[in-house]
Amino acid sequence: ARQNWIERLRSGLHKTGTSIATVFTGTKIDEALYEELEDALLMADAGVKATQHLLSDLRRRVKETKATEPAAVKALLADALADLLRPLEKPLVIGEHTPTVIMVAGVNGAGKTTSIGKLTRHLADHGQSVLLAAADTFRAAAREQLGVWATRNTVEIISQEGGDPAAVSFDAVNAGRARGKDVVLVDTAGRLPTQLHLMQELSKIRRVITKAEPSAPHEVLLVIDGNTGQNALAQVRAFDEALQLTGLIVTKLDGTAKGGVLAAIAQERPVPVYFIGVGERVEDLQTFDAREFAQALLA
Ligand code: GDP
Repeated sequence: ARQNWIERLRSGLHKTGTSIATVFTGTKIDEALYEELEDALLMADAGVKATQHLLSDLRRRVKETKATEPAAVKALLADALADLLRPLEKPLVIGEHTPTVIMVAGVNGAGKTTSIGKLTRHLADHGQSVLLAAADTFRAAAREQLGVWATRNTVEIISQEGGDPAAVSFDAVNAGRARGKDVVLVDTAGRLPTQLHLMQELSKIRRVITKAEPSAPHEVLLVIDGNTGQNALAQVRAFDEALQLTGLIVTKLDGTAKGGVLAAIAQERPVPVYFIGVGERVEDLQTFDAREFAQALLA
């Protein structure tokens, strides 16, 4: 199954024509190659800083190893990229608190509800009991969608029409504790970082969760769409400032994603990536492995 998503990530990159691998199909290592590589990394959404970092790291490695073949240089780039991405590797740990309270935020359409559904299934498969909190009290469709995931995974859901999202979250944390749940997953309404009152609402939800349980929230996750490039980095920054993020879920890396945005995040705002989304099916949520990802990106 893992091989499968690497294949999908790889084909996505080829579709967009930004494949970094094509830089290494020639026979010479010269300035033109580094220039081409710079363009390819920028096109792949790595951003200026990570691109500069990778280029100088690569030059150093080439000098040290005296590599002369493009294939060898490509392997060195894979090492450099894996090293850059490695600080983003981190497993989601459940069980230090009962319940572990996980708050999830994101812009509309990022794949938040789908990811919560997948995460619910992942936790249930690992023997954890989950309580879902539909803190998107505004959109009926969002509550319904979450309800479908709850039914499908036979987990309980706390939901309230038109109520205060912070109040729903408060109730959910208390209910989770009273019912002995392992995990309380709080789904919040999608919003843009520019919608200041909605960002303040998120901070309020966070504060009220802490009122219900002083050690909570234990995780604050942001779901970002891997296709949104440098915009995804801007979202990480803004949500991190409002919420002190503990982790990311990066979705849609199976489609036409360029993947390089993870390098930009690693360089400029290294929030751990707990999971990546590589499809719409429930099993398409994978843990993030820096080496695997670097290799898929350069394949
Ligand atoms: P939300 O508004 O953030 O809650 O977004 P949704 O969870 O409703 O997802 C928006 C769309 O993206 C839906 O059509 C999902 O099926 C799709 N989606 C979510 N995650 C992935 C993924 O990892 N890969 C693909 N290809 N599609 C995804």
